[in-house]
Amino acid sequence: MLKSPFQSPQFVNEYKQKCPICGKVISVVDLKRNVLEEKAFGSDCRIVYVGCDPLWTEVISCPHCYYSNHYLKFFGINNFEYELVEDLLFKQHRPIVELRLDKRGDFDKMVIKYLQAININEHINPGDHALIGSLWRNLYWLSKDALDNKFASFCAQKAVEKYKLTMEKNEFRDIESKTATALSLANMMLFCDEDKKEVKYYVEIAEESPNERIRTIAQLLMARLKKALGKAN
Ligand SMILES: [Zn+2]
Repeated sequence: MLKSPFQSPQFVNEYKQKCPICGKVISVVDLKRNVLEEKAFGSDCRIVYVGCDPLWTEVISCPHCYYSNHYLKFFGINNFEYELVEDLLFKQHRPIVELRLDKRGDFDKMVIKYLQAININEHINPGDHALIGSLWRNLYWLSKDALDNKFASFCAQKAVEKYKLTMEKNEFRDIESKTATALSLANMMLFCDEDKKEVKYYVEIAEESPNERIRTIAQLLMARLKKALGKAN
């Protein structure tokens, strides 16, 4: 069973803040993202870091009311969102979370937090396909770590759906993040055994990346695709 990874104290930032939903003081564990050291860059664009794994701190959760959200969204909710979240937690999340909390290991607790964050954003922030897609993609990576291929496939499908919308609507801050998303999307589409011709379209976008690592991985992937498709281009 997959356990919560060791997060080296030199990269960890711990602070106390009031939960924006229930108002109780919670302890937040975050990473000092500006000092993280990269160890490897995977073919699926997953960056592996020295001494920590950011995927495990990306979703913050309140232990009192169970409100869970992406760390960049957790504290910044407005009055309208507050009412929606409070209602969702009370009617839908709380009964499920309370039923399962004590019986589960680290991985399952993490999955529940991610699913809550996804569900909450689907209600208060449904147009942010990039954010919801990235939450599904993180779950896909975590499921692969846990060797749960069935759940990994489910999460990859969901991430693919959202990332396609992100690409279609061109929701990017720069070309590098667009090409990284395209490469990540292509990888998950292959994992889901989607049409290779369609995958090729996204790999072509990734090949135009200003980031050399993304370009190199995209070129290798394109060579593989061409071979599989049995033609020169
Ligand atoms: Zn709370």
